[in-house]
Amino acid sequence: MSTDVIVAGAGPTGLMLAGELALGGARVVVLERLAARTGQSKALNLQPRSAEVLAHRGLLDDILAVASARLPGGHFAGIPLDYSTLRTPFPYQIGVPQARVEERLAAWATGLGAEIRYGEPVGSFSQDASGVTVNGMRAGYLVGCDGARSVVRNGLRVDFPGRDGRMCALVADVTLVGGGPTRWTLPEPKGDGLLTVLPLGEGVFRVLAAGPRQTAAAKDDPVSAGEVAEALAGGGLTLGEVRWASRFTDATRQAARYRTGRVFLAGDAAHVHSPAGGQGLNLGLQDAFNLGGKLAAVIRGESGDDLLDTYHAERHPVAARVLQSTRAQGVLLVPDEDVAALREVFAELVDRRALAERVAGLDHDNGPLTRS
Ligand SMILES: Cc1cc2nc3c(=O)[nH]c(=O)nc-3n(C[C@H](O)[C@H](O)[C@H](O)COP(=O)(O)OP(=O)(O)OC[C@H]3O[C@@H](n4cnc5c(N)ncnc54)[C@H](O)[C@@H]3O)c2cc1C
Repeated sequence: MSTDVIVAGAGPTGLMLAGELALGGARVVVLERLAARTGQSKALNLQPRSAEVLAHRGLLDDILAVASARLPGGHFAGIPLDYSTLRTPFPYQIGVPQARVEERLAAWATGLGAEIRYGEPVGSFSQDASGVTVNGMRAGYLVGCDGARSVVRNGLRVDFPGRDGRMCALVADVTLVGGGPTRWTLPEPKGDGLLTVLPLGEGVFRVLAAGPRQTAAAKDDPVSAGEVAEALAGGGLTLGEVRWASRFTDATRQAARYRTGRVFLAGDAAHVHSPAGGQGLNLGLQDAFNLGGKLAAVIRGESGDDLLDTYHAERHPVAARVLQSTRAQGVLLVPDEDVAALREVFAELVDRRALAERVAGLDHDNGPLTRS
């Protein structure tokens, strides 16, 4: 069997890319390692630039309909950022679980003709002058949207410079006994750590906690209910049930090349960083939007191969700036009195509008919204 593009990974990046390619007339097969969607969500927000892209594709209304919150802005290390004066039709941040976004993207992509095959991990692959071979299937191109531990990136042996995590934190979706906060709040270091609890609706709350116990843990260590209960008790809250729990770090790395011949990297496969400020999923959607239209145009024979080089040229610097931002936020969120003083001075002196544009994804030329 052959197709135009094989996409490795049906996360938000792979699904957005599949939809963009199918919309542009390309045949696309998405190979996903998992047997089925988990329904779990790491990310919880969409920034204004993502809202612009999703609205352009007619997807935003459905996503807004299942959103948990519409916030007047974002934040940088817990410093509030007002989006109301930004030049965008969507001057707000949408609080919506990643799983809801993925469901909508999957329905859109398959409706346009993309095929998603679950339980089919990409293993080894090869490329030659006329195409790629992946799991015995031929295609013109392969795109690795297979997340932080990307098999595609590793198979290409592309450098992934940066550093490993210096902090480890806990993330959990829980129910609470006696209720919890009714509004979304910003992260703020307190004592020797940080605790943020956000209402997701239907009695479920997102818990983000960092403290000495989490710092001592490794990323893949299991999270016990006792650890979640202890973190919540620090904020005067009582755990009901843990629905899902995991850990994340502030590991920061970026692929040196987004293109190697006929193979590309996008989303977390191309860049990893701390979730501070909420930009990772957003970067991935926008990588996919940029690459999808270009690949489709080349496949249709309307553009030359050199158009594909502009993907790295345009998107690598954007992610590099996000990595810089999240590193800076990591420092400003260290629970320490002197860092708190630095954060206050920074908040007083910084140009908050410029910072808001940066977190919103509106601080650079995003190109036209008219491809495909
Ligand atoms: C706790 C936490 C909170 C976050 N909060 C936010 C936030 O609020 N806002 C935000 O923008 N970002 C946030 N992020 C980051 C965001 O979740 C990621 O950037 C986003 O999921 C990246 O999407 P992706 O599709 O590139 O990769 P992934 O979501 O990792 O998807 C990759 C997919 O590839 C599949 N896969 C892996 N290997 C293979 C293989 N060999 N073959 C086939 N398939 C494979 C995986 O099963 C998965 O389905 C957060 C991250 C964490 C950890």
